[in-house]
Amino acid sequence: MSKKSEELLSRLGVPKEATGAHAGEWLSASGELQASLDPTSGETLAEVRGCTPSEARAVVDRAAARFLEWRMRPAPKRGELVRRLGELLREHKVALGELVSLEMGKIRAEGLGEVQEMIDVCDFAVGLSRQLHGLTIASERPQHRMIEQWHPLGPVAVITAFNFPVAVWAWNAALAAVAGDTCVWKPSPRTPLASLAVQALCNRAADAEDARGVLSLAMGGADVGVSITEDPRVPLVSFTGSVAVGRDVAVRVAKRLGRSILELGGNNAVIALDDADVEMVVRAVTFGAVGTTGQRCTSTRRLFLQRGIARSVTERLSAAFRSVPIGDPLADGTLVGPLVGSSSVRAYRAALEKAVAQGGEIVAGGRVLERPGFFVEPALVRAPRHDAFPIAWEETFAPILYVFEVADLDEAIAAQNAVPQGLSSALFTDSVRASERFLSAAGSDCGIANINLGTSGAEIGGAFGGEKETGGGRESGSDAWKGYMRRQTCTVNGGKDLPLAQGVAFGGG
Ligand code: NAD
Repeated sequence: MSKKSEELLSRLGVPKEATGAHAGEWLSASGELQASLDPTSGETLAEVRGCTPSEARAVVDRAAARFLEWRMRPAPKRGELVRRLGELLREHKVALGELVSLEMGKIRAEGLGEVQEMIDVCDFAVGLSRQLHGLTIASERPQHRMIEQWHPLGPVAVITAFNFPVAVWAWNAALAAVAGDTCVWKPSPRTPLASLAVQALCNRAADAEDARGVLSLAMGGADVGVSITEDPRVPLVSFTGSVAVGRDVAVRVAKRLGRSILELGGNNAVIALDDADVEMVVRAVTFGAVGTTGQRCTSTRRLFLQRGIARSVTERLSAAFRSVPIGDPLADGTLVGPLVGSSSVRAYRAALEKAVAQGGEIVAGGRVLERPGFFVEPALVRAPRHDAFPIAWEETFAPILYVFEVADLDEAIAAQNAVPQGLSSALFTDSVRASERFLSAAGSDCGIANINLGTSGAEIGGAFGGEKETGGGRESGSDAWKGYMRRQTCTVNGGKDLPLAQGVAFGGG
């Protein structure tokens, strides 16, 4: 194991044996070895053994058994587990954030930001643990009362992607735990160390709250994911990842009439009108397109510029793309780290080749760097008409921005909405009328629509997710907690008669 990862894991309290064989809390596992690669050097940081599908089922066994007690614990007491986890995350923010950067390649500020997001959602969930409210509903029958209440759902599964290796788990797990569910996590095989570190913190929080087994881990690849999604004891699978895999998960879960929350790929656009603040557009689009090396589900991939500002914004963006410091994500001053692996570099190259073949012109960046690791230059591509440029309809998980010129807002909205994905969108304008149109039912069709800020960097307080092929799921804030619970409508008769609804008379009644 590399020195740096060994040091971070020890600061995070991961026992040595956990990196040798892992499932559950620290159960032994005998599945395939998962290599954690350092994307900055291409070298192996560590190898962790995942579990087999049958070991994953054993993890579900334990989560199902633990659920029987956990569901009866009062919700504010369940919140104590999440409060403790939030405290441990605060204490270990730097070590965990750096481990995320080391293993996934996002810059240090973003690694720390990801852990802050976990802390924020823990705080939110602790508050929620005293607010899982139902409704009181007027009954049409005399001396009857109707209420709606929310109960825990069961052992739920959370399957996550590599690019937010810890925060996405927290969006789900913090809510699930206060909702009274137990939670089995199958993380990305690309980021095993970050998930081991989070599990170590979960175990410490659980020991203090007699809650071992509420939050557990089933490390592994697609076979482990399939075994969990097909398990009839798992009423909910929350899946974050690509559209292709999400489609498979959705079908498997639907086949057994389970519930899924799907958070899949995006293809996010910014529209900037002639009256936009150009300085803000350039800053927001640069962060949106090159931040996290273009590997956020909310990364800005398409930019629609109204004619009057098209030339000047494109020039300023190319200058920004050319000057952005690329390098070691843990070094001061770096703004763009490596891509996660060689397959991402291949996807970047292939997309740019297609872009050029389809009539695009690369105006900045576009090269793979000659150095160890998986480094590429952020690429800015001047594109022809949107409908004649199919590469822009796909999500390429890399820092490539396609720039289109449009006549007006209606043309931009139509093009923005034309793609199959529907996650995040943004409009830059000073016009109230334009902004209201963008936010109206005839405007953006995405789950996220912003005015005068970029497409990425959502807060945890809002419900997060997108429409169409992005999957329709919602996680994190607002009333997303309802997805982790079951609703029960209860009618109570406080009288001595037995009136039927709709005035139905039955026999002597
Ligand atoms: P991926 O689809 O390759 O993998 C996601 C997870 O699914 C991994 O844990 C993987 O091991 C698992 N998996 C693979 N095959 C499976 C199967 N048949 N059944 C069950 N699980 C299976 O995605 P990735 O490359 O890790 O992540 C990038 C993708 O995730 C991008 O498309 C990105 O847009 C998307 N993403 C979406 C959101 C969102 O909130 N909408 C957030 C982050 C990432």
